[in-house]
Amino acid sequence: MKFLKQPISLIIALSLLMFNCSAGAKAIDKKIVKPFKVILLIGDGMGLAQISAASHYTNGELCLNLFNVIGLVKTSSGNDYITDSAAGATAYSSGVKTYNGAIGVGMDSLPVKTILEYALAQHMGTGLVTTCSITHATPAAFFSHQPSRSMDAAIANDLYSHPIDVVIGGGKPYFDIIKLQQLGYQVSSGNAIQWTMDYPKYFYFYNDSIHPPKWSEGRGDFLVNATSRAIKTLDQNKNGFFLMVEGSQIDWGGHDNDFDYTVKETIDFDKAVRAAYEFAKKDGHTLVLVTADHETGGLALNHGSLKNHTIEPAYTTGHHTGIMVPIYAYGPGSELFAGTIENTKVFYNICQLLGFNLGAH
Ligand SMILES: [Zn+2]
Repeated sequence: MKFLKQPISLIIALSLLMFNCSAGAKAIDKKIVKPFKVILLIGDGMGLAQISAASHYTNGELCLNLFNVIGLVKTSSGNDYITDSAAGATAYSSGVKTYNGAIGVGMDSLPVKTILEYALAQHMGTGLVTTCSITHATPAAFFSHQPSRSMDAAIANDLYSHPIDVVIGGGKPYFDIIKLQQLGYQVSSGNAIQWTMDYPKYFYFYNDSIHPPKWSEGRGDFLVNATSRAIKTLDQNKNGFFLMVEGSQIDWGGHDNDFDYTVKETIDFDKAVRAAYEFAKKDGHTLVLVTADHETGGLALNHGSLKNHTIEPAYTTGHHTGIMVPIYAYGPGSELFAGTIENTKVFYNICQLLGFNLGAH
């Protein structure tokens, strides 16, 4: 009976601690602490190999390495073991497994309501930030409902009926700037983005092209600055906000089997993750989620040097693969994302945490 030899005060302290722990656990079970701001960052095509390589090249300094709630996401689409970005983003935006190429519609091609549309209905702040055209599959699946991802003009048209506060990315040729201004947007472009602007509703196009350039070709800190700017604007909304940030070109590096492109885009994306993480850390009401729609390239890291921070990579394909992708979560409600989950579960978890009434969703 060694236990009895302990001072009585220690026994009391231990009992109290045990009581508090079980009471605390019950409280969490009953009512999960809920965020009212959600930042979802999607690294398109970013699997574990891409993250591992970026971590190696930054000497482990990735912000992603600070997250301690991590899950695995099954990425299959409604009609294929290997998803594309349209079906992958629709799973996250709308909670349905749909066919590859579908933008915000189900297997029957009918529209399915998105997180962003639920957030708009609750008068929350909403924003999209991306390093490709805003009409591209991943951002499009959050506001558009079209049977095919190739319908850029129709996708752009769907944005006019969605009063999203902050839209930053590419895609200028698809939009009617006069119409956007009539809808109350301040519209600007140029790669020296006017980060001092403080307008409640704005579109910011990187340049006049469809897609912003690669990070290595002069995009600089566009993504992290855009993310910080969007958070600052959206945080003025007392009802909270939903912001989606995409690191679009990690995927393109994978398609090109271009390791340097892949790694630099992943490191750049992590800077945006850090902006979100640092905000959430101070804020306390923000959930940050970082994941991918799928892995691209079947990237393997076969040899490497700890001394020189080099890696000998190998790609198995120029397409997407079916391997699960990680999801990193930080902030209130993050515990819901641990374990192995379907991509559609991300939608349901976010909706549950933001208290959306899904009705007959
Ligand atoms: Zn792709």
